[in-house]
Amino acid sequence: MAAGSPPPPPPPHFVLVPLVAQGHIIPLVDLARLLAARGARATVVTTPLNVDRLRGVAEQAARAGLPLEFVGLPFPPAGSGLPQDCQNADMVADNSQFLPFFFALRELAGPFDAYVRSLAPRPSCIISDWCSPWTAGVASSLGIPRLFFHGPSCFFALCEIMAVDHGLLELIAAAGDDERHLVPGMPVPVTVTKATPPGLFCYPGTELLRREAMEAMRTADGAVLNTFSDLEAQFLEGYEAALGKPVWALGPLSLCNRDEDSTTSRGKTAVDGKQAIMAWLDEQAPGSVVYVSFGSVARKLPKQLFEIGHGLEDSGRSFLWVVKEREAAAPEVREWLDALEARTAGRGLVVRGWAPQLAVLSHRAVGGFVTHCGWNSVLESIAHGVPVVTWPHFSDQFLNERLVVDVLGVGVPVGVASPVMIFDDESAPVARGDIARAMSALMGGGAEADERRKAKEYGEKARRAMEEGGSSYETLTRLIQSFTRSED
Ligand code: UDP
Repeated sequence: MAAGSPPPPPPPHFVLVPLVAQGHIIPLVDLARLLAARGARATVVTTPLNVDRLRGVAEQAARAGLPLEFVGLPFPPAGSGLPQDCQNADMVADNSQFLPFFFALRELAGPFDAYVRSLAPRPSCIISDWCSPWTAGVASSLGIPRLFFHGPSCFFALCEIMAVDHGLLELIAAAGDDERHLVPGMPVPVTVTKATPPGLFCYPGTELLRREAMEAMRTADGAVLNTFSDLEAQFLEGYEAALGKPVWALGPLSLCNRDEDSTTSRGKTAVDGKQAIMAWLDEQAPGSVVYVSFGSVARKLPKQLFEIGHGLEDSGRSFLWVVKEREAAAPEVREWLDALEARTAGRGLVVRGWAPQLAVLSHRAVGGFVTHCGWNSVLESIAHGVPVVTWPHFSDQFLNERLVVDVLGVGVPVGVASPVMIFDDESAPVARGDIARAMSALMGGGAEADERRKAKEYGEKARRAMEEGGSSYETLTRLIQSFTRSED
């Protein structure tokens, strides 16, 4: 530095606050790692359980000398009625704990305020999940800019803001079950129903949460989305116009992971049997295996698992199916799954617990993904050029399916008409025939070629978006620059 020239500005400090659910933590942790790798400082604020689960990421960052840290705020609060280990949505025991869990999260505002006040200098920017609106008051009282992170597709985000602005949510709530409504203001026709609403908080009892989230969205300084312009240009344009604020499209964030990161950054420290899974995939023919997984939260009853298992067996295809630990806990389920593996010897593998999803999707043997359409799963699949069978279960997943099937043309729907609720829902319809039929449509010859070709094209575009000179890479550069303070 020449004598007398001013020192370079300090790197901006981003404080990231994900909703404490795996599907929300994963992309924000990826973003934090990207920010730290690109010269900013990043702190992820979550609960102690998640800090523990993310220890591998913290250690990796420390080894690489990256300014990335994790802070755990005390949770759940006393008097919430939640057990002490209920510090992440995947620890919620059943549907009755779901609302108490969400309402207890609002109590994090106090500890978060104290934490941010303890920082000197104050952070340059808070990036908080759309579902964590309790950060808004802290940011505004301290004069800290705040962006909200909207985890689903931009297609969903635009449907949602249009639905809210045009009073569609109220209309749907009062409508009959089968009434279909067109979402106004969308660049493509989209219809929704009571069971497939264009809003994240559309379950009874969540009205206050939705109002708070919308308010926090309106008062934020902009939005961060996990998507890329070659995938959703028309919706990004519409969303920015509707929001009247900058929208930063920074994805697919998962592409910041190299193979060795892909287990640690998923937020569960150990992936049991990763080696065995990869060895099994190594033995399969290229593009022959269907990966089957329904994200981190949704849980199924034994009879639903049996139906899915029959569908996989009847399809005649090779499959790698992830069944959650809790789902596979009952002895009759364990035995049934063992018998299924024996009947489909060589072509069927059941993972009990948590799979290394990125490593699986990037394996050459994987040719399709039966997904519940959580946006991370969909985008990870697209980023690896893998077409999908869509079976949405709840929340934004129905509209993510519309995007994938009708707009992008990279998916074949299972076509199950009504939703599976989040946890162990008795009424959830499952149909082995539908699963087998959709798998055959995706993996068989003929029309499937189109979905596969398009998925590969988007996969290429996704990689380019994240490389230097690509749209998401350059948008992140601008984001960091815009929060870099020149020394006053
Ligand atoms: N995931 C994983 N292993 C699993 C199940 C899920 O790594 O066995 C990851 C997956 O890669 C994705 C996230 O968990 O990043 C799930 O997020 P998504 O939005 O798809 O669904 P949600 O869990 O929010 O319903």
